[in-house]
Amino acid sequence: MSQILVKNIGLLVTNNPSLGSTQLGILKNAALLAENGQITWVGDSQSAPTAQNVIDADGKCVIPGFVDSHTHLIFAGDRSNEFSARMAGQSYAAGGIADTVTKTRAATDDDLLANANRLIHESLHSGTTTIEIKSGYGLTVIDEERSLKIAKQLTPETTFLGAHVVPSEFKAKSNDYVDLVCGQMLNQAKPYAKWIDVFCDRGAFTPEQGRKILTAGIAAGLKPRIHANQLEQGDAVALAVELGCASVDHLTYFNQSDIEKLANSKTVATLLPGAEFSTRSKYPDARKLIDAGITVAIASDCNPGSSYTTSMPLMIALAVREMFFTPEQALWSATKGGALALQREDVGHLSIGAKADFVILRESSYIHLAYRPGVNLVEQVFLHGKSI
Ligand SMILES: [Zn+2]
Repeated sequence: MSQILVKNIGLLVTNNPSLGSTQLGILKNAALLAENGQITWVGDSQSAPTAQNVIDADGKCVIPGFVDSHTHLIFAGDRSNEFSARMAGQSYAAGGIADTVTKTRAATDDDLLANANRLIHESLHSGTTTIEIKSGYGLTVIDEERSLKIAKQLTPETTFLGAHVVPSEFKAKSNDYVDLVCGQMLNQAKPYAKWIDVFCDRGAFTPEQGRKILTAGIAAGLKPRIHANQLEQGDAVALAVELGCASVDHLTYFNQSDIEKLANSKTVATLLPGAEFSTRSKYPDARKLIDAGITVAIASDCNPGSSYTTSMPLMIALAVREMFFTPEQALWSATKGGALALQREDVGHLSIGAKADFVILRESSYIHLAYRPGVNLVEQVFLHGKSI
């Protein structure tokens, strides 16, 4: 049996309100025991059990590993020139994805896997212990299938996003492309995907097309989630709630009707502050969603076009500074909120029985994640009870 005890934790965030104070379930002067990759004991450091391996946290803060519920890691090339042009005044449009599609189709499987592995490594070292990965830069039957095959080697949280944009060869024939996505592409993608997703927005797919795609995915045994309202106010939130999507992602724009629909549903609102940051767009006001009782997650949206970062600490800092989260809410949304967006009960918290995925910060409080933006505060990351 592998055993590790972390003692002298100045501030332990469990995300379990029955274990400690506030929504974060905070314990002071705490310890936690992990055995065979699971949390088996949490409590006061003085009364901690003995263990084979002991780590002294020296009064620092320990948090659950981040759950990054929205990334696009299977791609080739980069779009730094596009970013540069955008910062010089050009606006962001969904069409920029086409450039990455060309490079991704031309890449070998080994290239795609190596690039995704590099980003996973980056992400893990910044404290992310659960990650979702979408396809969506292949947009042919074979390229979507291989993208998901590669993603599945890296995470169980794989999403078929054949409906990312309409590829150029289907220009002006978007309904034909939707038929392909719902037919042969879905058939070959489904063995490797847990989720189905569609980008429902200006320049991408209409809500009617989105309905067709998600309904086909659900019939094939996949669970639905949706990209919506990144570029403009649309009707996709109603669709997401009606179809029982686990999450509606982006929500740069939303109205009162969207708030009411989400508040009366189990659909998580996943905000992606890296996308607003990297496209110089207006940030949504998360307080309106949180105050309405909606479950809110934050994720990196790591992709080469509109948010080329794997850093969840940066997402927390942006969420606090620009979206009006409190530091507590932002940390919860980056951990437990992400887990709920992926319908996972074993991650995003440090209760007994949860996966022993946690992070020792260099500071005595999680507030520093927002208070010291851009500084690496991750001292040690534990994945399934093992230090990485
Ligand atoms: Zn996305």
